[in-house]
Formats: sequence, structure tokens, C-alpha cells
Amino acid sequence: MTLLAVTGPEVGSLDAMVPLELSDDLREFARASSIEELTKLAREVVLDPSYPTVRAWTRGGRGAVGCFPVYTPQELVHAVGLLPVSLHGGGESVEISHADAALGSFLCSISKSTLELALTARLAPFRAFVFPYICDVSRNLEGIFSRLLPGAVTHMLHLPQNFQSPATVPFLTAEYRRLLAKLEKAGGDPYRPERLAASIELFNQQRARIAELTRTKRNEPGKLTLTESYLIRRLGALLPREVHIQLLDRVRTELGERPNRAKDSIRVLLIGPFCEQPTLDLIDLVEQVGCYIVDDELLQLHRWYDRIEPGDDPLSSLAAAYVESPVDIGVRAAPSRKGEAILRRVEAAQAQGVIFLTAKFCEPALEDVVLYRKALDRQGIPYLHLEFEERSTSYEQTRLQLETFVESILFD
Ligand code: SF4
Repeated sequence: MTLLAVTGPEVGSLDAMVPLELSDDLREFARASSIEELTKLAREVVLDPSYPTVRAWTRGGRGAVGCFPVYTPQELVHAVGLLPVSLHGGGESVEISHADAALGSFLCSISKSTLELALTARLAPFRAFVFPYICDVSRNLEGIFSRLLPGAVTHMLHLPQNFQSPATVPFLTAEYRRLLAKLEKAGGDPYRPERLAASIELFNQQRARIAELTRTKRNEPGKLTLTESYLIRRLGALLPREVHIQLLDRVRTELGERPNRAKDSIRVLLIGPFCEQPTLDLIDLVEQVGCYIVDDELLQLHRWYDRIEPGDDPLSSLAAAYVESPVDIGVRAAPSRKGEAILRRVEAAQAQGVIFLTAKFCEPALEDVVLYRKALDRQGIPYLHLEFEERSTSYEQTRLQLETFVESILFD
């Protein structure tokens, strides 16, 4: 990987786009009275690179922490009174004009757009940034951020690679303590185990509701589109969790009354976009061509845990949950289990095929595709591999590939 030297911050100004303004208490989300209104608002929020929800939250002096994908224990951030927010790059809204000078060409888009957001002051509302060591790109971004934004606290979170050693959970617990020390430096409250236990319970509630939403999509895929499911989940990485939980309860009630408009679509598993996110147009397209996405890796939203019991030592319980998670997504080092894992997912979702949707130049996702394909080939399960970039605009070729894939299964 090539990372060129950054000699100093060149801070640009916000571009011509008029930033979305939200109330301090984010009441716009409580007022959205239907899934359609909610997803319309979510779309505006997601496409606005100036983080309108974070600006609203921090206006009264409250602090927010940007968490690069995938494995930041956001419960810790919440427990010290700061708002954890997932950083998913600039998406289709950000023109790269500064970051190209600092990063080499053959890198994923999220690295460049995240840096561009920093260089153009859009990340100013954040007090701190956490970069889990999931790949070389994420590791180096932390170093660049610490030089570019000396006023902000940055932290690289080391994650264990050996999941069998008795020293693994103590190692990760110690890493979490290092993170807590940085969060305190960023203005967080001193760590108190009882507050972390409460935060873990709150995140459990959010996870349970997200699991219910994804179950609905799996069992009654005509009830909501992938785009709706995605946008509702995406808010969960931007809003205070208390607000998101209320919103998920309203969605559940509305979905209970919505008809399951079944179409003649094939059931598909979508694998790969756990870090960089495809454009909303591409997410729309996948279902337009005749797929029902019945399980996906879009936005992990802490889905690698099921439920965490805080226990007597919630910090250690949080670390143990990461180590013992049965969910194998890219960047967790357990290559021997990957093949089995995808076959189990296909079976659980009763999927007829798999679409690998991987970010261009994302090595962890591409390495996994090799392991997954071997397992699928053995079982004769059809798959399609597509690559995407954040700023793609034309999908003619992609549409053709998707249509061919769908037809090959429908008319098999
Ligand atoms: S998209 Fe892939 S390569 Fe890029 S930061 Fe994420 S995991 Fe690393």
C-alpha cells in the first residue's frame, strides 16, 4: 500500500451544498410519521457529508466520537457520555480534491473520502476518532489524522488475531482501557462499570430490534425494500441510540400492518460491504433487477454480537463478546471457518445465490471472496462478484451483470 507523506493540513471550505439543519433534540425523527417519511429524512442525512445529526447533538457542548468501521466497541463511548458515530466515508456526495495528494491511487474510496472530510473541516464537530486496526489502510489513517488534526484525540484500536489463547480476552480488555483513557482525554466522563453495564443493555436493546428488522426482511422480503432497511439501520450509527430505539419501535408497528407484496424475485445473500458502503443507487438497483436481499453485510451495527451479559466486570464481558463472536465477517482472522460460515448463512437465509459486493481495492473483502467461492463451488451455489466505488455514477454494466445472474437462476 502506498501512503504518501502529508506535510500539513490544507483545510478547504464546505462546498456549495446547503447543509441540512436539525433541531438540537433531533425532534424531526420523532415527527416522521411513516417509514416513507423516515427514509426520506434518512436519505437527506446520509447524503449530507456535514454530519447534520452530529452538529445538532454537539451544538449544546456535548461531544461526539467518530468510529471508523468495523469493530469499535461503541458501548464504551456511550458509557463515558459521548455520542458514538460510525464514519462511513463521504459516499457519493464528496468530491475528492485534497485527499488524492496524500494517499496513493490503489486504495479504497472510503479512505480517501474520510480524509477529504477531515481536510475540508466536515469532521470539525467530532472530538475524537477511533480507527480499529482492521487493515493497513485503517491503521495508516489513524497516523494521518493525528498529524492533520492535532486538536482532536485519535486512537488506533489493536484487535487480537489469536482467538484461542487464554491471554486474548485480557489483552483486549487492556486495549479497551487504553481507549477509555483517550476518551477521557477527549472530555468523556471517568469510566464507571455501572454506566458501562447500562450502555451495554441499551445497545442490546438496539441490537434486538435490528435483528427483528433483518428477520422481517428475511422472512417477508416484500414488506420493505433493501434501501428502506438500509437507511433505517444507517440512522442507528448516526443518532443517539435512545432516539434510534424509539424509531425502530415505530417501524416495527408499521411493518406489522404492511402487506408482504411478494414478487417473483430470487432470494440472495449480499456479502462484502461491511466497511465502505455502496451508493444508494446501487443498493436500489440490486433489488430492482429481481433480487430479494434476505441477508446482508451492509453496516454491521454491532451485529457480530447477539446479546452481551454485562456481568460483574462489563469491560471484560465486552472484550469476551468480541473474541467469542460466532459471526465471521471480513477482517476477523479465522480463514479456516469462512467456507463453513458462508454455507451456514446461505442455508439460514434459504438463499438461492450470493452476490459479493466488494469495495474496489478492499483487500480483506477480496481475500475472503476467494475462500467463500471455493465453498460455494463445492455445493454448486451460484454467485456473482461485483466491485463498487463510492463515486460510481453509471451502472449499465452492473445492471446487465445482475440481470444475467437473476435470469440464470430463474431459468435454471
Ligand atoms: S474498505 Fe477494506 S481496505 Fe478499505 S478501510 Fe475498509 S476494510 Fe480496509
